[in-house]
Amino acid sequence: MLNLWKDDEASHFAGDLGLRVYSSRLLGRDKSLVLHGGGNTSVKIEGKNIFGRAETVLYVKGSGWDLEHIEAAGFSPVRLDHCVELAKLAALSDPQMVNELRTHMLRADAPTPSVEAILHGILPYKYVDHTHADAVITLTNTPDGERRIRELYGDSVVVIPYVMPGFDLARLCAQLFPRDARPNTIGMVLMNHGIFSFGATAKESYDRMIDLVARAEDAIKRAGAWQISSQPNAPARVEKASDVALRRDIAALRRDISNISGAPMIVATHRDPASAAFAQRPDIATISRQGPATPDHVIRTKRLPLVGRDIGEYVKEYESYFAAHASSTREPKTMLDAAPRVVIDAEFGVCTAGRSAKDARIVFDIYEHTMEIVQRADKLGGWRALSPKDIFDVEYWDLEQAKLKRAGKTPAFAGEIVLVTGAASGIGKACVQSLLARGAAVVGIDIDRAVETLHTRPDYQGIACDVTDEAQLIAALEVGVRTFGGLDMLVLNAGVFPAGTRIESLQTLEWERVLRVNLDSNLVLLREAHPLLKLAPRGGRVVVVGSKNVSAPGPGAAAYSASKAALNQLARVAALEWGGDGIRINTVHPNAVFDTGIWTEEVLAARAKHYGMSVEAYKKNNVLRVEVTSRDVAELAAEMCGPLFAKTTGAQVPVDGGNERVI
Ligand code: ZN
Repeated sequence: MLNLWKDDEASHFAGDLGLRVYSSRLLGRDKSLVLHGGGNTSVKIEGKNIFGRAETVLYVKGSGWDLEHIEAAGFSPVRLDHCVELAKLAALSDPQMVNELRTHMLRADAPTPSVEAILHGILPYKYVDHTHADAVITLTNTPDGERRIRELYGDSVVVIPYVMPGFDLARLCAQLFPRDARPNTIGMVLMNHGIFSFGATAKESYDRMIDLVARAEDAIKRAGAWQISSQPNAPARVEKASDVALRRDIAALRRDISNISGAPMIVATHRDPASAAFAQRPDIATISRQGPATPDHVIRTKRLPLVGRDIGEYVKEYESYFAAHASSTREPKTMLDAAPRVVIDAEFGVCTAGRSAKDARIVFDIYEHTMEIVQRADKLGGWRALSPKDIFDVEYWDLEQAKLKRAGKTPAFAGEIVLVTGAASGIGKACVQSLLARGAAVVGIDIDRAVETLHTRPDYQGIACDVTDEAQLIAALEVGVRTFGGLDMLVLNAGVFPAGTRIESLQTLEWERVLRVNLDSNLVLLREAHPLLKLAPRGGRVVVVGSKNVSAPGPGAAAYSASKAALNQLARVAALEWGGDGIRINTVHPNAVFDTGIWTEEVLAARAKHYGMSVEAYKKNNVLRVEVTSRDVAELAAEMCGPLFAKTTGAQVPVDGGNERVI
């Protein structure tokens, strides 16, 4: 546990709130303290209200902000008096509590204060820091966790038994803290939840947090429970470069998860040594199934992981869990989707599921820490998590349910995966953009390495790949499946347009090269993608980027025109063969798209001159007199994958501004 405080850095932050921002960011930088919006901090500042009367304001982390990147605007200013008085009420529902906090803020546009705001308010210290530190949770989540905590910290912390976060917890702390605090008390441990520290200055409170957590880490080390094995037992099948059955099995698991969830899901598989070793533990079924580590983890990773692939059993178990607890507690009317968010399989490793690649990534980040916590606690003598009822209460927390309702409209292709060839430039690059904008996770492949860095975001994976090399194509498909879980859509765009050559001088090698790129590579990809497309939760879609040349060829382009015409025929046969598998194949025929790599200003000027036209007129040399851009083609291709074309297959749609020879 490193103390990251640096006086010279801190000096750039002015005032009480500025230092609150600084030390909150330091906490956020250490992932063993807080993860993805977890943890919260506050500072109490005295000031004058608009009438000149003295007033203390609690600046507490607003929901939706991450400590690591928080700004002053991320702290919600709440009137402290009101906060403290609320804690004296006998009962307050969570929605009422949120309403009270929101209506007693000093800034109308501030974010909703953290659900732990009242708890911050009742602690009589200027600065209060709260984390869900892994080391503390490791200690609390053991059979004799409370004894361990009391032995380790003595009077320096007040220990609070587990209560769900929200009003009831704040009220309990308001009762227990004044009773149990001693002059040397510098913190508070919430069993199965996390730890608080406090101080008169930002530095004092931060230093105490680091010190308290470091002591927990040392205790785990002294007990010999720190080191956990990260050596998988056997090399798993997944490590082979290509394996049709493995790809299909992962895609089948994703389809099952998606069906239960009621919407397509991304499933990311993780085979790093720590995940692989965990997944291969002989006691994995028991050790992983005793519940998540903290309320925070429940919300993100759901209740339990699925161990193995028997999803039917999992759903039955979830339904009986819901039935058992729904009647006894807050009586939620609807069951949350039963689909697991974590799947542990000896062969796949640790798989995490989410409605987007980002969500699946967050689940993994949290589960990475859960794996460590569980295994260390196990070494300490046993892992004991929250009770099923406590987990249920968190999972069906009305605040979380309200958040889900507020989440709003999901994009059209959320949870779906598309592979685009020739993705580094021109129409392919535009297709990547259009599909990302519709919420799809995109695998972009191209011979140009620029494809690898086209986007840096969790829902994009760029792979440099020569489409004429069968092994490379299959490997790319495999990376896509392991990263996102399957394949729903395929955009066949990669192609070459060689310099004009008349047939009498067309060399065999050149002819073969053009056909290999424009035609053969697409056969390989279609063939290898078929078992995956067949498992797409909403049915597979293929869009072929054809050409005007299919119906209106030009002299000097024999190889190109023949390759595109053959590809067109391949697509039509695929539409016939795969209709029964729910896979649709449609083609766009673009023409004269000039905003691509091949068309430099000079080439364009030369061509326009050749036809005796201005560049402007040349670009719009079609029936509608419009310019056709890469984006126009990409948007049509993306729409062809959507509901508008749900009942269309084998179609060919020109996107060329109208061409007299085609019409
Ligand atoms: Zn907390």
